[in-house]
Amino acid sequence: MSSVLDRFLRYVKIDTQSDPHSTSFPSTDKQRDLSKLLLVELQTMGVTDAHLDEYGYVYATIPATSPKLQVPVICFCSHVDTSPDVTGTNVKPIVHPNWQGEDLVLPDDSAQVIRLADHPDLAGQIGNDIVTASGTTLLGADNKAGVAEIMAATEYLLQHPEIPHGTIRILFTPDEEVGRGTEHVDMLKLAADSGYTVDGETVGTLENETFSADAARISIQGVSTHPGFAKGKLENALKIAADIVASLPQGTLSPETTEDKEGFIHPVSVQGSQDEATVDFIIRDFTLVGLKQKEEILRQIMEKALTRYPNSKAELTVTEQYRNMKDVLDKYPQVTDNAIEAMRRVGLAAEPRSIRGGTDGSRLSFMGLPCPNIFAGEHAFHSRLEWVSVQDMEKAVEVIVEIAKVWEERA
Ligand SMILES: [Zn+2]
Repeated sequence: MSSVLDRFLRYVKIDTQSDPHSTSFPSTDKQRDLSKLLLVELQTMGVTDAHLDEYGYVYATIPATSPKLQVPVICFCSHVDTSPDVTGTNVKPIVHPNWQGEDLVLPDDSAQVIRLADHPDLAGQIGNDIVTASGTTLLGADNKAGVAEIMAATEYLLQHPEIPHGTIRILFTPDEEVGRGTEHVDMLKLAADSGYTVDGETVGTLENETFSADAARISIQGVSTHPGFAKGKLENALKIAADIVASLPQGTLSPETTEDKEGFIHPVSVQGSQDEATVDFIIRDFTLVGLKQKEEILRQIMEKALTRYPNSKAELTVTEQYRNMKDVLDKYPQVTDNAIEAMRRVGLAAEPRSIRGGTDGSRLSFMGLPCPNIFAGEHAFHSRLEWVSVQDMEKAVEVIVEIAKVWEERA
């Protein structure tokens, strides 16, 4: 039997960084290195149907032990890739046993210091064993903590067939960090009724609400001339783009001025020449009405800017990215309730919360698998200061096992 910590230390040493610029799937081949190891470990545990598909997804089943035939099939899901923001090559995990509140100075770059004052969640970790990277890489607890927890829970359930539960599906996905994690999930093969991504932060976290998200692009056609002969004729597309960006609401509706349930309009890229330019935005809100209002604000800004450039044109196109999972989860309240009950039974007071972002679960929920997100214990992810505690990972394993039991009991 391999502890959740052993597993975690094994998995983080494998570089699985995904690449937003790649057009292949998975976006980087090295993600398969971990997926292949997971496959072998699942097979060694005795999971006979475990397999790795052509896209790099790992599917596996823990067969039901319950005599009840109507227990819904639940799925636990984590992603194998790490963020493109910080390198994941040569991760050297360090366990700091029985942490007493001191600064954690990371040895390979002493400027990288994890301080209690900067990481309020550390306050609950006194006496715990904290795992960090060594200062030059991320740790990869996002989401290898979740992977290790699901693997440890799988082994535990297989070794304890006396625990009654229904059929449980395991799914490990590539490319979550580049927004493509659900692109090739085969829902028929998965054949689950509901699921949980194990990719949340603080112990006890249960997220059942995400942003609704659209991408918006303004394509501008200016009027181009030779700059030496441009008087009264040139309408510079780059200046129209700048005009639009400068006209965005000040002091509100931006990522840097909003929190909690407020949405925003956020320019992410400007490209072009005096002839043509494009400005890309992401639009976020928790409600569809709020999302559409923000798109309308953007449209009005564009049209107003165009009145100053009468011979130019601009067009706004909006593309759906993902939707607030709560719209789906509200129809299946037992999915959230059963996770809350499982956490209560292991001594955690879980409150459903919203997340200012999306998860693979937001997409899965709309693909027919209601799928909130539960904690994996990962903190300060996408940074060199990433950390996770061994005790939180062990708690997550307990929660996964308990969720399976609650579903069986209530069936
Ligand atoms: Zn993640």
